[in-house]
Amino acid sequence: AQGYVGIEAVLDQVKIKAMKMGFEFNIMVVGQSGLGKSTMVNTLFRSKMWRSSLPSLGVPTLQTLQLQSMTHVIEEKGVRLKLTVTDTPGFGDQINNDKCWDPILGYIKEQYERYLQEEILITRQRHIPDTRVHCCIYFVPPTGHCLRPLDIEFLQRLCRMVNVVPVIARADSLTIEEREAFRLRIQKDLRTHCIEVYPQKCFDEDINDRLLNSKIRERIPFAVVGADREHLVNGRCVLGRKTKWGVIEVENMAHCEFPLLRDLLIRSHLQDLKDITHNVHYENYRVCRLNESHV
Ligand code: GDP
Ligand code: MG
Repeated sequence: AQGYVGIEAVLDQVKIKAMKMGFEFNIMVVGQSGLGKSTMVNTLFRSKMWRSSLPSLGVPTLQTLQLQSMTHVIEEKGVRLKLTVTDTPGFGDQINNDKCWDPILGYIKEQYERYLQEEILITRQRHIPDTRVHCCIYFVPPTGHCLRPLDIEFLQRLCRMVNVVPVIARADSLTIEEREAFRLRIQKDLRTHCIEVYPQKCFDEDINDRLLNSKIRERIPFAVVGADREHLVNGRCVLGRKTKWGVIEVENMAHCEFPLLRDLLIRSHLQDLKDITHNVHYENYRVCRLNESHV
């Protein structure tokens, strides 16, 4: 047709470039000890979605004493994803919990600083390795009441620095009604204390974003269950927790909302989480740092 230039060919080029480069994505789990953070790291990696490409890990979940990262490269249809999950020791075990968040906030800042130091070099690497935390999963204890002051204070600090997705931990200890009531109370607490978790309303770019993200905002915090073992259920191998009453399947939406968490992180919002990390959180850090000194 006349006037047709064929600009859309650029889409294929972008796609080919992205496939060549691959994707880096970094998640961190945060919350009090005993809430299932380390188990969740295993759950994420063992999830059906990419089990085909991973050998069985068989790493038992031990108590976490320091920050530690686990990386796996997942490849699917020619797309390479380097997924890193950073596990953190539980905080809040002490009588005095002042500063219990320092090591975690410190780690997040350190990764921004690393990136900044590479970026301001005169001769820069063509590709700066990205260890910045793109999403922090915050584990709320399943008390069924409301957020504790410690959670509120930590979340306030965390949300200013990084994308945060809160989850109700060990949700198998709550009934369905309790989960719903708890979720609503947490949402109210977040609003009252001006804690903006991901996906933040102010970053919806258009009506489609707003529609999709509003649905997600209604479901957050997801009520999740973690497991690092598989069980045979009706001839199927499922990731789950075996109890006297049966197996709680983590990938079954009738049992818990782990699939919503996984899909948000890996399927629907991966690039958006990376964009907000770079354009908002890292940018804030960069501006502050460059203002305070001539690095
Ligand atoms: P962390 O301290 O937050 O890293 O917690 P762990 O992952 O080490 O888990 C502590 C204990 O809770 C272990 O015995 C786990 O098997 C158990 N656990 C982990 N996730 C869940 C869950 O979703 N539900 C229940 N009931 N127990 C869990
Ligand atoms: Mg742990």
